[in-house]
Amino acid sequence: MPSSSLADDVRSLLSAFEVDPATLQGGSRLVRSPIDGSTLAEIAETSSKAAEHAIGQAHDAFLAWRRLPAPQRGEFVRLIGEELRAHKSELGRLVTLEVGKIVSEGLGEVQEMIDICDFAVGLSRQLYGLVIPSERPDHKMTEQWHPMGVVGVISAFNFPVAVWSWNAALALVCGNSVVWKPSEKTPLTALAVQALVARAARKFGGVPEGLTTVLVGGREIGEQLVDDRRVAVVSATGSTRMGRVVGERVARRFGRSILELGGNNASIVTPSADLDLTLRAVAFAAMGTAGQRCTTLRRLIVHESVYETLVPKLARVARTISVGSPVAGDSLVGPLVDGDALAAMQAALSKARAAGGTVHGGERVDVNGERSFYARPAVVEMPQQVGPVVEETFAPILYILKYRQIEEAIALQNGVPQGLSSSIFGNDLREIELFLSAQGSDCGIANVNMGPSGAEIGGAFGGEKETGGGRESGSDAWKAYMRRQTNAINYGRTLPLAQGVTFNV
Ligand code: NAD
Repeated sequence: MPSSSLADDVRSLLSAFEVDPATLQGGSRLVRSPIDGSTLAEIAETSSKAAEHAIGQAHDAFLAWRRLPAPQRGEFVRLIGEELRAHKSELGRLVTLEVGKIVSEGLGEVQEMIDICDFAVGLSRQLYGLVIPSERPDHKMTEQWHPMGVVGVISAFNFPVAVWSWNAALALVCGNSVVWKPSEKTPLTALAVQALVARAARKFGGVPEGLTTVLVGGREIGEQLVDDRRVAVVSATGSTRMGRVVGERVARRFGRSILELGGNNASIVTPSADLDLTLRAVAFAAMGTAGQRCTTLRRLIVHESVYETLVPKLARVARTISVGSPVAGDSLVGPLVDGDALAAMQAALSKARAAGGTVHGGERVDVNGERSFYARPAVVEMPQQVGPVVEETFAPILYILKYRQIEEAIALQNGVPQGLSSSIFGNDLREIELFLSAQGSDCGIANVNMGPSGAEIGGAFGGEKETGGGRESGSDAWKAYMRRQTNAINYGRTLPLAQGVTFNV
């Protein structure tokens, strides 16, 4: 039985979710807290046989669930949202303990889950089709949407529960079942969410067994989900390296995938920018969540006329921002997830120095000893967009580049393989509209006078190029969880053929 004050805290939180304490010990998968490196639990991984059974059960559950009217499915999601509201502080704290996010970000993640549940409840009465004029007399054409089947959700460590909810809330109201493979680094929050869903299911009554399940494990169990033909949609969130493998494997069996992969997000600071607002926005976007958001600001492209005013201030923020334990004091930057993340950060900084970069901050900070990995955010002035600047390093490094013409800034912004999020700071309408136009940002998200991170659930979320092209959450992202069917209906007594074709037998 793991013993540390954080492990005790986790045990009591999970017992409030009615997670059996026996599941937290004796297993082969060690779950560590990035806060101090202590072991929180030793949990058992799902065997391949058990995963096979869970996918089969999810498929059977889908066959029953799709027959329930969508607004009733919405009622189930409403009850999940109620459970999340009632347990927001406990689940938020568990996110903090398992991932190391500061308290307000842990709570914010749960709020995001509540928001998407609310959205999905409304959506359950709005899964609209179309009526299309037919070219043939006494004919009608319609388009309608049907459920897909089992939706497999593979999620990353950094949003251990919100990513599941973006997918599951929509998938469930759309009439699908959900099998979730959370990150091997964050299975405890997944078990807590599964317990809340079970509670909602008891209140709802009649939810088919296996409608939502969790598979605990790493890459192997993920690949089993990816390769199973009964899984109609695979929604995978994580690194581009993972997405390349998953995308190819799903395509090989003609399944549908939704890929939400890495970002290398930039902001452009134009001469007309409000620099106080810019400084605050950049600090949050680049240093918040210890640089471990897919939408973290990683490149700042600054006009030469404001460079000398803004960049020294940013370097000062990096040198002075509070780095520390998210459960002690009021630090703004918590730990990196593990030692590999710190090593990747230090390697990127070495490469940046070798390419002529000037590094401010970025050093390791000893907060809780050798087994945890905290780092001061780095601001790195770069002569060119080369080397580590075109890669995603999942740590708080902000590369700064200087520009003269807005076209040059946009070319730099677009000049990386990833295409998730972007933003521009300024008050010049022409520059802003150019940035938002077809000649502007090539990203899935383009913001004005704010950083690239911190999306709301109402919009479609996702990005282009090596970010994978998937869209989740708001707008019409629900269509990815349904299949489109076109219907042509003849209500007359003759048989006119399309395009005037005649065929008289
Ligand atoms: P990761 O790619 O290491 O792991 C993500 C998930 O994929 C884990 O559950 C892992 O077990 C699984 N996995 C890995 N290889 C697999 C395979 N071959 N088959 C099936 N499953 C496999 O990512 P991470 O370190 O957990 O998260 C950080 C990355 O996620 C960053 O690149 C970040 O930008 C990205 N991310 C993207 C979004 C987005 O919406 N675009 C959101 C959050 C995180």
